[in-house]
Amino acid sequence: MIGKSIRQRLVILTLFVLALALGGSFFIANRAFSNTLRETTYTQLANNATYLKTLLENDTYTIEPDRFDAYARATSLRITIVGKDGWVLYDSDYREADLDNHLYREEVQQALAIGNAVSERRSATQRLPVLYHAIRIDEDPDIAVLRLSTTLSQLTGYQKSYQSLFLGGLGLLVLLVTLITAVSIGMITRPLHRIKETAIRYANGELDARMHLDGPSEIAELATTMQDMAIRLRNTIDEVESSRQQVQAILDSMTEGILLVDSSLVIKVANQAAKNLLLQASDNAQSIEGLRLVQAIRSTEIVGACNNTLLEGKNHEVILAHHGHLFGETALLVGRSKTRILRLFAVPVWTDGQVTGVVLTVNDMTELKRLEQIRKDFVANVSHELKTPITAIAGFSQALMEGAQDNPDDRTHFLSIINRQATHMQRIVEDLLLLSSLEQQNTAPTRTWTAVGQIIEETVEACRFRAEQKHSRLEVSVDNPENLEIFANGMLVVQALSNLVVNAITYSGPETTIGIGATIDETDAVFTVSDSGPGIPKDAQQRIFERFYRVDAARSRSQGGTGLGLSIVKHIVGVHGGSVTVDSELGKGSTFTIRMPRGGMVPGTTF
Ligand code: ADP
Repeated sequence: MIGKSIRQRLVILTLFVLALALGGSFFIANRAFSNTLRETTYTQLANNATYLKTLLENDTYTIEPDRFDAYARATSLRITIVGKDGWVLYDSDYREADLDNHLYREEVQQALAIGNAVSERRSATQRLPVLYHAIRIDEDPDIAVLRLSTTLSQLTGYQKSYQSLFLGGLGLLVLLVTLITAVSIGMITRPLHRIKETAIRYANGELDARMHLDGPSEIAELATTMQDMAIRLRNTIDEVESSRQQVQAILDSMTEGILLVDSSLVIKVANQAAKNLLLQASDNAQSIEGLRLVQAIRSTEIVGACNNTLLEGKNHEVILAHHGHLFGETALLVGRSKTRILRLFAVPVWTDGQVTGVVLTVNDMTELKRLEQIRKDFVANVSHELKTPITAIAGFSQALMEGAQDNPDDRTHFLSIINRQATHMQRIVEDLLLLSSLEQQNTAPTRTWTAVGQIIEETVEACRFRAEQKHSRLEVSVDNPENLEIFANGMLVVQALSNLVVNAITYSGPETTIGIGATIDETDAVFTVSDSGPGIPKDAQQRIFERFYRVDAARSRSQGGTGLGLSIVKHIVGVHGGSVTVDSELGKGSTFTIRMPRGGMVPGTTF
């Protein structure tokens, strides 16, 4: 019955049980009836046999066929009288001459032996049981045994009537049983169908599907268990999904790129930083999970490192340049300025003693490398800046020791050179110390509410001497009708403005006018220093704020410049949360603008 539905199975089973019950009842009824019939018939045969024996032994009856025929007809029994030699002397149903010797008939033999005997045989023609009762006749010289027999022909009648009753009832019974069965099967299968439909919905991911069952308690329990299972499954899936999202959020918030590849080098996990660092800008929004590493990242070095990690189970490190979709030397050749330096670290993932994947971490070393380069350049620049004055001081002091001190003119000249170079060195060191103190992290300068007029006044005072030397005029214009103060370190702001004014005086010709302006409103303080000097070439305008950068190094040095002035301005403005810009045109002059919040540095601002 494999593959059949419950309904089919139950119908087949019910019909089978029904057939078995009906067949069984038919068999039992038949058996009971034939047994009773047999007993009654044997009693009837015995009674008649005893009666006829008495008649024969009392000589009331002799073998007179007519009388026996009449008796046989009246009782519907067959009467057979067997002689001493076994031959039939009389038979009510057959001609005696046609019958064979009956001496060895089972019942005859037994009757001769014990007086009475019964036996049953099946009639050859009707295929019905024939019952015999034989009785020994002792008081007659010719007769040995009297035998009475009859066919259980009523059985056929009974079976026929039972069959007609049975068939009639059968139809009704089948109808009734089918009806009851259909109703009970429906009661079981309907809720099962609903359970099946809900299970299919669960399998399709609709775990919120619910069912209301009022079927048998076992089926209702099954449905409740299934629903509980779906709820637990939904909770587990939600938990897994939420922890997956948490992990993804953690991974995406990391600045370090993370990639997980499996043993076939297929990418399983990639955080946003990894995509930003390894893919082209246009590609980094798309998902690379499921791609082979070599399809997503065309770098033989990276793929090779992962491969080696898989094979050897050891960490591998790769440092290489990346630009667009190019890696290594090619990337350096194509876009040196935009190339990023990446450090990749491949670590094996072990499961049960086997390497089953690789975690690849990606770090952007570009800024680190840039800072390293700046540090190297800075050391080189400082050495270079100090080398000239030190060489001069060493040279001239040696010349003095070797005799130049005896010549008063040489002595004065050499000593003045030594003094100038020492002063230059002192200025460089002072500027470097100031820059360093400004760069110290967490060192916010002490600030107070300072009058703008005072700042401008001190700036003019600090630069007056230099201006007078070049016969230049300092023209001040302050737009601050409400006399608003600024929250700043006045000394540093004066230092920044003085650097700008001194540059303006230094690089402009003699007898020019330098403009110093200040405009203060509720939120911002804007200071400008303008000159009509030589101006600054466009490509140098951004770089002049770098340390030791000079447009014309020789001229700067000859004027006592350290190359750090604008760098100091930028840092001072930075610690006040402001910005400095330059607007300059060659041959027409330059205007430097400092813009800073009036109330001090905006919290959290870095420079
Ligand atoms: P320096 O000590 O050489 O003046 P700065 O950092 O102050 O160093 O200036 C950097 C360079 O910017 C100067 O060497 C000079 O070439 C240029 N510069 C600065 N200010 C001006 C200006 N007002 N006009 C023209 N060039 C200027």
